[in-house]
Amino acid sequence: LIGCNTAAPTSESRLKLGTNITITIHDTVPRGIFPDIWTRFDEIEQKMSINESRWDDTELLQVNQAAGDHPVTVSDETLLVVQEGLRVGELTDGAFDVTVAPLVLLWMVTGSTPQVPDQERVAAARELIDYTRVQIEGNAIYLPEPGMGIDVGGVAKGYAAAEAARLLREAGVNHAILDLGGDVVALGTRPDGRPWRIGLQDPTRRRGALMGVVEVIDTAIVTSGVYERFFEQDGVRYHHIIDPFTGYPTRNELTSVTILSSDPTYGDALSTGTFVMGLETGFNLIEELEDVEGIFIDEQQRVFLTSGVRDSFRLLSDEFAVSC
Ligand code: ADP
Ligand code: MG
Ligand code: MG
Repeated sequence: LIGCNTAAPTSESRLKLGTNITITIHDTVPRGIFPDIWTRFDEIEQKMSINESRWDDTELLQVNQAAGDHPVTVSDETLLVVQEGLRVGELTDGAFDVTVAPLVLLWMVTGSTPQVPDQERVAAARELIDYTRVQIEGNAIYLPEPGMGIDVGGVAKGYAAAEAARLLREAGVNHAILDLGGDVVALGTRPDGRPWRIGLQDPTRRRGALMGVVEVIDTAIVTSGVYERFFEQDGVRYHHIIDPFTGYPTRNELTSVTILSSDPTYGDALSTGTFVMGLETGFNLIEELEDVEGIFIDEQQRVFLTSGVRDSFRLLSDEFAVSC
């Protein structure tokens, strides 16, 4: 086998960005690549996190604390992530809204003390949510009303994935899989040149149970689903994707949305946004947009595929049925 690329895959895992991350390199491992990526993730979290992380003075916490008072200058990458969030806010007519922080902090679904808040407090927080009111001048971000806040939780993991993929490519890696708690970047092809086969989570079953598989090359596969993070109170499940229009966890016919795109940042924001929009509007938006495909699953276990993914998707579970 001399001359063949027979490198066995090398994996490392860490708990970062509030999720379990695994990087698997199917190539010669460039020196120092794993520490470089873990450091990159720490830097991103240190700039952009707003809840219960190791860092209590992040750029976005400063922006939020200064709401109604003064603008705060942020780094280029924080600005970029916020701007990507604002752009997808426009595309989704506010279903994706980076100013959702007051509601996220009220519900604390992903925090240590989740609770169903009083109706009045939900209504009050909802009044503060409006991405069109974010003011940007240069690198300075200003939120015009006290209590407003930016939360990039629906898009920053995608950005982190994009950064990790960039570092890997720059180091010469052509075959790798990044898994950020279910958000996957399939870098390049398999070592034998064939497409990667990426499993899709069955939203009704334990983590790791798959309902289908897609074949992809150089693609980010990002999912937002009801099963990802949630708490239960009085027998009702409350998950972490908030409908900015109601102030409550999104309740529609969907159980999960998977977006395929070359840009993980865009895909992450779009999966959250189209999940909030619901099957019909969300699906139509993805069908309409260029360079993105979607896999929508509803409560009746129906699977809806946009036209560009129909040939590369295969069902694995007979409890689901492909509807289009
Ligand atoms: P995950 O973080 O599990 O990958 P998502 O990408 O769908 O899931 O992001 C969910 C996170 O996005 C929430 O934890 C919250 O921080 C934020 N979020 C919740 N609702 C919205 C919304 N309507 N628009 C923008 N961000 C949201
Ligand atoms: Mg998202
Ligand atoms: Mg996500």
